[in-house]
Amino acid sequence: MLLRAGLLFSGADEVENGWLLARGGVITEVGSGPKPAADDVVDLPNCLAVPGLVNAHDHMYQWATRGYVPDGGLFEWLRALYPVWAQIDADTVRIAGRAAMARLLLSGCTLSSDHHYVFPSGQAGIFEALVETAGELGLRFHPCRGSMSLGESKGGLPPDSVVEEPDAILAHTEAVIHRFHDPAPGSMCRVVVAPCSPFSVTPELMRDSAELARRHGVSLHTHLAETLDEERFCIDRFGKRPLDLMEDLGWTGRDVWFAHGIHFNDTEVDRVAESGTGVAHCPSSNMRLGAGACRVEDLVHAGAKVGLGVDGAASNEDANLAVELHQALLVARMRASMQGRVDAATALDSRAAWRLATVGGAGCLGRDDCGTLKPGKCADVAFFRLDDLGHAGMGDPLAALALAPPARAEAVVVNGKIVVRDGRLLTGDEATIAADLAAASKRLQARARP
Ligand SMILES: [Zn+2]
Repeated sequence: MLLRAGLLFSGADEVENGWLLARGGVITEVGSGPKPAADDVVDLPNCLAVPGLVNAHDHMYQWATRGYVPDGGLFEWLRALYPVWAQIDADTVRIAGRAAMARLLLSGCTLSSDHHYVFPSGQAGIFEALVETAGELGLRFHPCRGSMSLGESKGGLPPDSVVEEPDAILAHTEAVIHRFHDPAPGSMCRVVVAPCSPFSVTPELMRDSAELARRHGVSLHTHLAETLDEERFCIDRFGKRPLDLMEDLGWTGRDVWFAHGIHFNDTEVDRVAESGTGVAHCPSSNMRLGAGACRVEDLVHAGAKVGLGVDGAASNEDANLAVELHQALLVARMRASMQGRVDAATALDSRAAWRLATVGGAGCLGRDDCGTLKPGKCADVAFFRLDDLGHAGMGDPLAALALAPPARAEAVVVNGKIVVRDGRLLTGDEATIAADLAAASKRLQARARP
């Protein structure tokens, strides 16, 4: 397969009239100028081609609960949504997951994690529904087996109706690792162990989950330092700040990445970087919930792995990674200006923002075979138009698409297969997915009504 664009950004180099050849889902050659022959050709001189975007944090089932609590902070928002989420089943998750993945693919995302932590008692097949849907739509997928074990009666935030028994959590997590995890290079599915947060999981389960993950060589993911409410919860209950707690539980290292990582102090920023722990920055969700602004620049300067996530659609209402890189750039500058920095407008330039959305996210997910366009890497590529109304005539394509994010990608290739072409999804029908989502959201709302 030959992929060619007006400008190709490999993650490091910017190549005019650049092309790449791929075979069996792997890039074999990258070049410019006269194009070599190939069986299958995507030749888009009006586009910028970039490494497929990586979504480092999401909760796809939340596509069925968008628009709830439009004006509340995290804990208030969670308390209102837990009872609704308690009503989900595999069907709802399949329909919501399909919508989430379709939207991600259409926005140029080729590799996504999904942190699923709601498994209502008696509802089988939820994790399977997500894995199957990713396979159907052609998305490279890291499903995270999330969990909640600390219910309200034991001092946690979620109601007892949505928490599970620790033994059942660990047994199911191990079962889905055996069934779905593929550690090979170029893997289309890797399972992650992901207890939800310090306020919904016991320290014992956190520790046991880390042991389980390391026994099987899989990654670890959780929410951390998202809000000051969470920080107060940790200090009140455990006498420790969130990162101190996680360090004590063995929850830092190259196989761990946190969602959000907003409220770190200076030494914590350094400790996150030194331990090789990743951070998934989710700017839209953080602004929507008034959670704060992640210290992205400080983390990057300290050498930490930082990626981007759309977070669940219940706190974003969309899943467009190009918008997240745009938001990341603006938030970094806003944060710098609020600190009185005279160079605030240079904080996080557009190329650094593109790196967060590509190689940064791949690093969080432990994928050194994704996130850049080089020989030997996965053939995951997103094409964005430079001649549409939103971008026509703009001089610097990488800046143009960061400052004015596109609504959708023109073409998307995952694992050497064309999944989006002419801005249309080839692996699913967008109108049907939207209609099914509307119906499922309505059914869920009716079911959850007291
Ligand atoms: Zn989240």
